[in-house]
Amino acid sequence: MYSVTDPATGELVEETPNASDEEVLAAIDRVHRGYTAWRRRPVAERAGIALRAAELFAERSDELAAIMTLEMGKRINEGRGEIGIVVDIFEYYGTNGPALLADEPLTLKTGRAVIAKEPIGPLLGVMPWNFPCYQVARFVAPNLVLGNTILLKHASICPRSAAAIERVLHDAGVPEDAYVNVFASSRQIPSVLADPRIKGVSLTGSERAGISVAAEAGRNLKRAVLELGGSDPLIVLDTADMDETVKATATARMRNCGQSCNAPKRMIVMADIYEEFVDGLTKRVAEYYRPGDPADPSTTLPPLASVAAADEVAAQVRTAVEQGATLRTGGRRIGPGAYLEATVLTDVTPQMDAYHEEIFGPVALVFRAGTEEEAIDIANDSPFGLGAAVFGTDPERARGVADRIEAGMVYLNRSGGSVADLPFGGIKRSGMGRELGALGIEEFMNKKSIRL
Ligand code: NDP
Repeated sequence: MYSVTDPATGELVEETPNASDEEVLAAIDRVHRGYTAWRRRPVAERAGIALRAAELFAERSDELAAIMTLEMGKRINEGRGEIGIVVDIFEYYGTNGPALLADEPLTLKTGRAVIAKEPIGPLLGVMPWNFPCYQVARFVAPNLVLGNTILLKHASICPRSAAAIERVLHDAGVPEDAYVNVFASSRQIPSVLADPRIKGVSLTGSERAGISVAAEAGRNLKRAVLELGGSDPLIVLDTADMDETVKATATARMRNCGQSCNAPKRMIVMADIYEEFVDGLTKRVAEYYRPGDPADPSTTLPPLASVAAADEVAAQVRTAVEQGATLRTGGRRIGPGAYLEATVLTDVTPQMDAYHEEIFGPVALVFRAGTEEEAIDIANDSPFGLGAAVFGTDPERARGVADRIEAGMVYLNRSGGSVADLPFGGIKRSGMGRELGALGIEEFMNKKSIRL
């Protein structure tokens, strides 16, 4: 069942039944039939449609933001911000697509060749609820410009976002059979991946879902891009302005109510400034982040995406405390709705579950590091390797630390966020492949060698 439940109140708003197996097959058939015509359109036309989609996303920003607020509790202003990035992504691929897809000439020892950049066919997208529009955009924009067609299975708590995105794309000129939203259940995904008409899959979500989809993709020899969880470290080496560093840390951690794969989740602070940092962060988190209505622009702490998600994060905090962590502030579940107080935990050790898990909510963990070496060891002592941040006044030292962190992305003196022209993705259990930027259009591309 796809259902809309307002996380601010816990009230069920609407339910939509899952697609039947026949409807899923019909959807596969559509993107298969749509592919031939779509890939034959000149790149400039597909790019033009992406630019038109960017305009429509901008025009419908308020409507889309309101849908996200209702479906998954995103603060209304953050929703508008998310649509701003979506616009940037469609503009980026609309503007740069033709150049990124131009033949690449090669001079061989024995003559000349080109690498032609071609699509591979209909793709499946399995997308999550935390950034309902942005996650879809970063998969869909490059692949539509490349000439692939898309079958999209969105998270079951975001049916309205899924439908609104499909409307934007069709209104922008994407043919109805080049982008098809399907309310499939995760149970139906293995048969979609087994269908020879589907040539690849991109999933953003949990490790559990990623493992399942990657296994099916492997069994069927299909390409897969996986953007999974993260437990990103943020290392503070030193700071010229503790207030600013604390504020930047809190903002990055609490963005999207802590439900960002690449939010800094483990703050690792040098011992000489640790107490000052913890005191500052605790005060900031306790005083600034107050639960409120996500539709009210002045709200600082919205609900989590669902009551189940809030219960799960609250349980992770409770377990950490039972296992010996120190609760500096927060930790209480607030109802009705899916609220959890913004939380700071310290004294988390490798013996505790919280040390190893991703905590997908408004919870910051702070660790003390005696030396730079120890800070890097703590940062890398994680099954995940998505992003990381290094704060420090000496750029060379910060860069040296960045080079030693096991992650797909490192931000210096800033944290998290995402921009259209910078590749995004992780290593280790955070997944594989890259989205966005020039690399993001290559994942489902046939780089065809043509010897001249
Ligand atoms: P899921 O991974 O379950 O959901 C993401 C998407 O995958 C949804 O469309 C979901 O469908 C689908 N899905 C789930 N299981 C399967 C499967 N076996 N085969 C195919 N598709 C599947 O995320 P949750 O909502 O359960 O969140 C759990 C945790 O995942 C979070 O706490 C967080 O740690 C992580 N997560 C990470 C995200 C990221 O940005 N990297 C985003 C969201 C979650 P359906 O909704 O129908 O179940």
